[in-house]
Amino acid sequence: MKWVTKQEGGLVVAHTTVILTADQINDLEWAIEKREITLCETCDDFFAYVPQKRFCDDCRRQNLLKRNQRPEVKERKREYQREHRKQPKYKKWSREYYQRPEVKERNRVKSREYYRRKKRGSGK
Ligand SMILES: [Zn+2]
Repeated sequence: MKWVTKQEGGLVVAHTTVILTADQINDLEWAIEKREITLCETCDDFFAYVPQKRFCDDCRRQNLLKRNQRPEVKERKREYQREHRKQPKYKKWSREYYQRPEVKERNRVKSREYYRRKKRGSGK
C-alpha cells in the first residue's frame, strides 16, 4: 500500500510504502468516499480519482498486455488492419510513402541484404 499526498491541488501517489495508523486509514476511506482517490481492484494501490477508472496505471498496462495476447483480440486487430488498408486514404498515403527517396533507398538496402543472405544459403 502506498501513501497519498496532496500536491498542487491534485493528488499524487508517493512511491514509498508506509504503515498506516487507524486515523490515516480513516482519512483514506473518507477520501475514497469523497471520490478523491480510488483503490486499485487488483493491487491495493491508490490513484487519483477518475470516473470509470478502476485500476492503477501499472495494472491497467498489465491488463492491456494480457488482453492483447488473447487470440480473439489479435484476430480483431488483424481484421481492423485489413479494413484500414482498404481505405482510399490509406492507399493514397501508402502509394506516396513508398515513392519517397529515403524509403526507396531503405527498401533497396534491405532487399539487397535479403538476397545476399539467401544466396549464401545461411537461412535467415
Ligand atoms: Zn494496481
